[in-house]
Amino acid sequence: MYKAYVFRMYPNDKQKQKINQSIGNSRFVYNHFLNQKIEDYKNTKQTKTCFEQIKELPLLYKEYPFLKEGDSCSLRNSLFNLDDSYKRFFNKQNRYPRFKKKGINDSYKTNNIKSSYKGNNYESIKLDLVNKVITLPKLKEIKIRGYRNLKKIIGNIKSATIKKEAGKYYVSVLIEEECIKPVFIPNFIVGIDLGIKDTIITSYNEKIENKFKKENIKKRIKGLSRALARAKAGSKNRYKIKIKLKRCYQKLRNMRKYLIHDITNKLTNENDIIITEDLDIKKMYKNHQIAKLLTDIPIGNLLKTLEYKCELKNKKLIKIDRYYPSSQICSRCNYQNKEIKDLSIRKWECPKCHTIHDRDYNAAENILFEGLKQYMRTINV
Ligand SMILES: [Zn+2]
Repeated sequence: MYKAYVFRMYPNDKQKQKINQSIGNSRFVYNHFLNQKIEDYKNTKQTKTCFEQIKELPLLYKEYPFLKEGDSCSLRNSLFNLDDSYKRFFNKQNRYPRFKKKGINDSYKTNNIKSSYKGNNYESIKLDLVNKVITLPKLKEIKIRGYRNLKKIIGNIKSATIKKEAGKYYVSVLIEEECIKPVFIPNFIVGIDLGIKDTIITSYNEKIENKFKKENIKKRIKGLSRALARAKAGSKNRYKIKIKLKRCYQKLRNMRKYLIHDITNKLTNENDIIITEDLDIKKMYKNHQIAKLLTDIPIGNLLKTLEYKCELKNKKLIKIDRYYPSSQICSRCNYQNKEIKDLSIRKWECPKCHTIHDRDYNAAENILFEGLKQYMRTINV
């Protein structure tokens, strides 16, 4: 997989001069050999191949010594470019190659040359994102800017294209990145019923507590709120109470955050595929009966965290249709019992097969089956 990273470059005057030289040389070589092709064709109806032209480069150096001052890779690349232009022309993708003009597409391309000498590995292009410098042939280190949060690119540098545009300099670094995503092999699959009570039930009939001890802190918040109401406006005391209250809320938020991380870590560490309902959170909060039962931690946050952890750990999160009646279907015989809509029913007996169900466990099992069906369709089994 190839990926290009473009950085703004800040060359000093000496470096600018060198860059301009290489751009000019590239253009010169391109035009020189384009002219040669045109003339050869006129005279002999035959033209030299790209490699024959490359072999002529040393002769050109003698005739035009300034070519030695620029980047040497770029001249060969210029000839490859010319060859591509001809190929595209013969494939009817382009019109006939034209001479390059100064100020239009001012650029040159250089390759990363690797070698090892006395046990030291050497590369002609080096990118240092920590110190924000790029090392290029003939130019040494140049300051760059871009990708502020990127500290390292994993992969091999293939080439760099140096561009000048409206007096500004850019470098596009082509990197061959390795595909680091390992093959996905699901071993453990779980369905979870997020439910509306304080517990998450898994299809392994495991109960994960979805609450934390908050009685003390809530009591404290209540007390402080009362004190705040009594405190004189603008007083020092009032200010102190306010700070204390702020800290309490902060603590509550942190407890919530840690709990979300605990639950999502547990689920993503123990399972490869996690199946859940695609809940309509907003609607749930609007529905008073459900909103009253909603847990300490916002389900929406939990799902978001779960999603991002699955992505990070190469796990799969499958969401099943929010209208799938997971609570009402008997996981053993598939009978749909519409009476179970009533949220207060925690246990029920299937009228058809007489299995006695725990509401949430049964739902978790149904969610697992439904999600598995969905997963199998995606892998075309
Ligand atoms: Zn049944």
